[in-house]
Amino acid sequence: MEFSSKLLENAVYEISQLPGIGKRTALRLALHLLKQPEDQTSHLTGALLNLRNQIKFCSSCHNISDVALCEICSNPKRDETVVCVVEDIRDVMAIENTGQFRGLYHVLGGKISPMECVGPQDLTIASLVEKVKQGKINELIFALSSTMEGDTTNFYIFKQIEGFSVKTSTIARGIAVGDELEYADEVTLGRSILNRIPFESSMKMS
Ligand SMILES: [Zn+2]
Repeated sequence: MEFSSKLLENAVYEISQLPGIGKRTALRLALHLLKQPEDQTSHLTGALLNLRNQIKFCSSCHNISDVALCEICSNPKRDETVVCVVEDIRDVMAIENTGQFRGLYHVLGGKISPMECVGPQDLTIASLVEKVKQGKINELIFALSSTMEGDTTNFYIFKQIEGFSVKTSTIARGIAVGDELEYADEVTLGRSILNRIPFESSMKMS
């Protein structure tokens, strides 16, 4: 792509670094912004900078939060003895939307993936194991997507907490293998949380 303006070329390059955005789309977005009032660009870049500079991670569940202890963890109506293990905030949002879960979450920040050089130490597994050791959790619900990485991560955590008095379950799969949690419809996802099955029997099935 030949540009007559270095400024435009730089903007297009930066926008095209975002996932799913090719050079053509990036050019269309850059030209769109140029047609809009200058304010709109300031609001966009301001929101992104604030997100980047001010974002916090909940000290307990590691979910993205504006405050040190997130709204879910600090809500006295939630059942802190039941913890749902998820990959990231999109899963928290999906499960919250079902309205079927009143426990807390633990956000791992990813899945174990040797291909992408993500090991257990890159995730918040140690802090989850620590919570289990403290004996405050009665049940851990694994709600990672049923990919090989998800299964590996579940199994790794399961091994780490074996021997502690905690029940482990996994969300029932109305969800096809390989489907990401965030795309499951609310009714199916809600039902799969209510109909969760013991983790050990899920291992025998696969
Ligand atoms: Zn939290």
